[in-house]
Amino acid sequence: MASYNQMPEDVLQDRARAALARLKACDLCPRRCRADRSSGEVGFCRSGRKARVACYAPHFGEEAPLVDRGGSGTIFFSGCNLACVFCQNYEISQEDQGTEVDAPALASMMLELQELGCHNINFVTPTHVLPQILEALLLARADGLALPLVYNSGGYDSVETLRLLDGIFDIYMPDAKYGSDEPALAYSCAPGYTKIMKATIREMHRQVGDLVIDEDGITRRGLLVRHLLLPGDAAGAAEVIRFLSEDISLGTYLNIMDQYRPEFNACRIPELCRPVSRQEYARALKMAAEAGLIRGLAML
Ligand code: SF4
Repeated sequence: MASYNQMPEDVLQDRARAALARLKACDLCPRRCRADRSSGEVGFCRSGRKARVACYAPHFGEEAPLVDRGGSGTIFFSGCNLACVFCQNYEISQEDQGTEVDAPALASMMLELQELGCHNINFVTPTHVLPQILEALLLARADGLALPLVYNSGGYDSVETLRLLDGIFDIYMPDAKYGSDEPALAYSCAPGYTKIMKATIREMHRQVGDLVIDEDGITRRGLLVRHLLLPGDAAGAAEVIRFLSEDISLGTYLNIMDQYRPEFNACRIPELCRPVSRQEYARALKMAAEAGLIRGLAML
């Protein structure tokens, strides 16, 4: 049973209410824009009172423990609290393609994904629309939603906000995008990223622990971390690996991704204007394996 189904109705209502109240002077994420989103103002993420959804569908390209035969039930939100120059989904995250949805519409999407046989509901880029997700979850739960929820974020989250999710989300899938602040600022406009990402992942791990995979190869609970390699290791994989192996857990499921392509505005930055080489990928995998982080590692 998903955790939120064990939570008393009034507690879930209180969490949703507390999150919605924060739209009045938005401090949901570390940017703390203080925009009054409840009356239509927008902050850095360009998102107002309602969430915008670009698409929703079973997704078979996510990590194997999320997918199996039914797929991961992804819901892609428009807007983002990061601004990565290389974003592969920039039409959605930076150009805000998508349609505004209210709580009943978002709840229907969750229920439809469950009907289709997905193994989880995977909220892609949820940080800035968390109140809207909780508001919809109340309705979806009343109508029979029972799948575990996946929080699939860029790792630039607020611990205070994440505490509202304790006992609601079963699976956390944050990025650990950068091991140092300089590239985080230059490529994603994210001041203080590393300290924030580390606090984010600590809190997520405190809530759900290491990823648990059942005998069918499916996960229903735990932490899964992604690190997208950048060319020339410009993102700083070594520190991400050190942090996860020493400060979180050797049982951390880490997906080191080599799919970087210079999309969107990446080629405005010369060092980002090429793919990651096979040697760079192999080096990062070796580093992780030597640190003892073997769960989730691809084999070359
Ligand atoms: S969620 Fe959006 S408006 Fe709120 S603090 Fe973050 S970037 Fe600013």
